[in-house]
Amino acid sequence: MYHDHVLANHPGWKETYRVVRNRFYWVGQKNDVRLYVGACHVCACTKPLNARPDDPIRTRTPRQPWEVISIDLMGPYPRTAKGKSYILVATDCFSRWTEAYPLGTATTKTITETLFTFRLSTCVSQR
Ligand SMILES: [Zn+2]
Repeated sequence: MYHDHVLANHPGWKETYRVVRNRFYWVGQKNDVRLYVGACHVCACTKPLNARPDDPIRTRTPRQPWEVISIDLMGPYPRTAKGKSYILVATDCFSRWTEAYPLGTATTKTITETLFTFRLSTCVSQR
């Protein structure tokens, strides 16, 4: 009632315990309230986790040119006379040098072939 009543608004276990403790007492009250709030389905589905993620997101800092790249695929655009309708953009995260490659189709095969043919064959892969 002091946690999941429509007017209670699902407070955390400490606030729920504070309100319950002001009105009632029983042995093991604190642990019971903590377990009750911890098992609340509504809280589990709607409240953010306060725990740190096991593997925090880290930035990946390249140490030399073309070690780390970011790619973007744009299109489809109107087809050119040479049959190209997509643009593959590859940016070197070390120098910010950007290259663009026209593509006829946007498939995994054409993208990887283009990257390996024009740039990745000269990249350093040490990671
Ligand atoms: Zn709740």
